[in-house]
Amino acid sequence: MRVRAEIINVTLRHPFQLARGPADTTRETVIVHLGDALGEATPIRYAGETAAAVRDALDGLKVADDVTLDTLGDVLDAFAAQHPQLRSAWAGLDFALHDLVGRRMGRPIYQMLDLDPVLAPATSFTLAMAAPDLLRRKVEEAAPYAIFKVKLGSPADWDTLALIRSRTDKPIRVDANEGWTVEQALAMTQRLPEFGVELVEQPVQRDDLDGLAAVTAASPLPVIADESCQHYADLDQLAGRVHGINIKLMKCGGLRQGLRMVRRASELGLRVMLGCMIETSIGITAAAHLSPLVDWADLDGHLLISDDPFVGVTLDPTGRLVLPAEAGLGVKVRA
Ligand code: MG
Repeated sequence: MRVRAEIINVTLRHPFQLARGPADTTRETVIVHLGDALGEATPIRYAGETAAAVRDALDGLKVADDVTLDTLGDVLDAFAAQHPQLRSAWAGLDFALHDLVGRRMGRPIYQMLDLDPVLAPATSFTLAMAAPDLLRRKVEEAAPYAIFKVKLGSPADWDTLALIRSRTDKPIRVDANEGWTVEQALAMTQRLPEFGVELVEQPVQRDDLDGLAAVTAASPLPVIADESCQHYADLDQLAGRVHGINIKLMKCGGLRQGLRMVRRASELGLRVMLGCMIETSIGITAAAHLSPLVDWADLDGHLLISDDPFVGVTLDPTGRLVLPAEAGLGVKVRA
């Protein structure tokens, strides 16, 4: 059988304002078809991936008809060797293969991986930086979600936190996206608990591992590496320097690579957050199948777009991820 891959455009609920030029209102993602099975590859733009390169790598790829849970790793290894730089394409193929094999076995992916769906955590919902009026509106729109993730790293950080805290008493997680100096990060982390913040993601520059270690050593809150942790090879040098890591399946190459990272993180004493890019319900549901294994979930990418063509993972009234019980990914085209 052959893979079919197509580029689609999804629309952001809130235009993403870039430093220069007009706001970004849509994103490209690549949908992967393998028979009835589905996958998704969301190109990692800062890694130089493009939607066209990802589609071209996947479209027309031949996969043995008799692929099984035991042999899908060989297919993925061969593809990765051919396309070492396209990790989101690895992920797209990985999701489609797991979906295919799961459908044939009649088992949801979490069951194929021996995971208990009841252990899936609640997900956070991201509040991007915005002017006060828009931010107030975003907090109102975010009422259904149990945990907020707030993007910081600007001179308005305290005002942003104070505004959100004045509107909600839900737990807040903070992501500085490398936006602070070590000195700023040391000062910020001391005061964040006053605002009911429960963890801090990527306080300083990705390459400043000593700075990261210094912030971690002094921080009253867990410090999580995101930009500093792209894939498996980055894990060992983070041990002892942070409390945890953020694993994104598009960046590391899919469920199989994600599982390897979760296991290694556990050996190294690192806690795990499962994150995402702006993805449809295909990519988010794939990640959700791994979520019973992790400490924190940040799987809201599909909630940030207004025209998700698919349905899969849902949230219960407490904001917890509810994994589909259908075979494979359990994702369907939205009716
Ligand atoms: Mg982050």
